[in-house]
Amino acid sequence: MGHPALAEAAPAVYWLDQPDRPARRPGLGGVSSADLKADLVVVGAGYSGLWTALLAKETDPSLDVLVLEAGSVGWAASGRNGGFCSSSLTHGEANGRTRWPQEYAALHRLGLENLDGIEATVRRYGIECDFRRTGELTVATEPHQVQWLAEESEGELLDREAVRAHLDSPTYLAGLYQSGETAIVDPARLAWGLARAAESLGVRIAEGVRVTGLSTAGSGVDVTTAEGRVVHAPRVALGTNAFPSLVRRTRLHTVPVYDYALMTEPLSDAQLDSLGWASRAGVGDMANQFHYYRLSADNRILWGGYDAIYHYGRRLEPSLDQRPATFDRLATHFFETFPQLEGLRFSHQWGGAIDTSTRFCAFYGTTHRGRVAYATGFTGLGVGATRFGAQVMLDLLSGAETERTRLAMVREKPLPFPPEPLAYTGMQLTRWALASADRHEGRRNLWLRALDRAGLGFDS
Ligand SMILES: Cc1cc2nc3c(=O)[nH]c(=O)nc-3n(C[C@H](O)[C@H](O)[C@H](O)COP(=O)(O)OP(=O)(O)OC[C@H]3O[C@@H](n4cnc5c(N)ncnc54)[C@H](O)[C@@H]3O)c2cc1C
Repeated sequence: MGHPALAEAAPAVYWLDQPDRPARRPGLGGVSSADLKADLVVVGAGYSGLWTALLAKETDPSLDVLVLEAGSVGWAASGRNGGFCSSSLTHGEANGRTRWPQEYAALHRLGLENLDGIEATVRRYGIECDFRRTGELTVATEPHQVQWLAEESEGELLDREAVRAHLDSPTYLAGLYQSGETAIVDPARLAWGLARAAESLGVRIAEGVRVTGLSTAGSGVDVTTAEGRVVHAPRVALGTNAFPSLVRRTRLHTVPVYDYALMTEPLSDAQLDSLGWASRAGVGDMANQFHYYRLSADNRILWGGYDAIYHYGRRLEPSLDQRPATFDRLATHFFETFPQLEGLRFSHQWGGAIDTSTRFCAFYGTTHRGRVAYATGFTGLGVGATRFGAQVMLDLLSGAETERTRLAMVREKPLPFPPEPLAYTGMQLTRWALASADRHEGRRNLWLRALDRAGLGFDS
């Protein structure tokens, strides 16, 4: 018997389950063989692919850009995420400072410029995706986390009373409010809007077209699809995220990890008043197994995180989007956090895969003699960073050296995950160790300390 608040929750992604979801675009069926070519082919119509197409066309309106998408625009991670659009390119400050201490100041600045660039694009094309620069509230719910908050260098530190005035939960002990560096968005509407913006400039988007292979041909690349059609292009950009990479040698560098979320029904004015939450800031707690939550435009609460599930053999399939045990756990945690909302029900429950890399943030590269570029490994923080990733792909394909391509973060590759069965065993051990650290005042056991020393990790 599941949690009673989940009794009527639809097994569907709230953001995509909308009456005005765009109709499916045609595939390549109607395209003549002579037209199966473009100056730039982009694989994937999530944020990575859509930003690549849009930015390429903005830079050079004469380019013929063709996007090939196996499903539909934004159906995968880009249409089902929490909608936290962070300026961080490094999965948070601590990860960035530890890995690239010399260049962190530049990475921070580039991240803020990137967030400004997203906001400017949203305004320029009138993309209605409820983009709000609310900032982010980090909350401590265990005594040892209060000290961690105090060590953060930026933001407004809130004691127990102040954090509860910001957003009222009896579980909060302290908080840190960082304005300016995070926006919240309706994620699917951002993807749909980016697609429309790209099309308004002349980009072609074909849906239901799965790319199965890439091969060097003449001075360009042949892109083969599942239907056996071949598109030729001098340059190809891959925005395929957690799906098996078309570049075999990067396959071991990411693993798909499932992350889950619930959406409540809209709160009444009285329920909303019982929370405070005037800032509407996105919220995250500080445990290794953390929750994230935020308001939607119509005052629902999206509540996600905690479990991060890896399936043996890098499995990725639609049935894994539903996980009742996780939904029950999330619902229980929700009412522990907000007991004043007892009686509220959830309308939607879903999950999706994130592309975890051992360094927690994206890595970049080229193959096929520089004609194919990829950006992958965003590890659960790609809503904002994918735009930067798109710019890096375009820089790499142009061959130009830029501030971005000179970054160590861009030049270095992460360590790969091991093949099975070691990947699965390592992931289980790490999850167990992280949960155990959460129960023991954050103390990291030998396994986690060894991973820390190797610069390896597991996060969502
Ligand atoms: C539940 C959940 C919550 C999240 N919450 C947040 C959050 O709050 N903030 C944040 O910053 N990030 C979050 N993320 C991560 C974020 O959503 C991703 O980092 C981001 O959307 C990645 O965009 P993308 O375009 O690279 O990938 P995707 O959106 O996954 O797009 C990849 C596309 O490529 C297509 N594709 C793959 N292979 C092929 C092929 N061979 N041929 C044709 N098409 C192909 C797929 O069909 C897909 O549409 C979350 C992710 C999940 C799953």
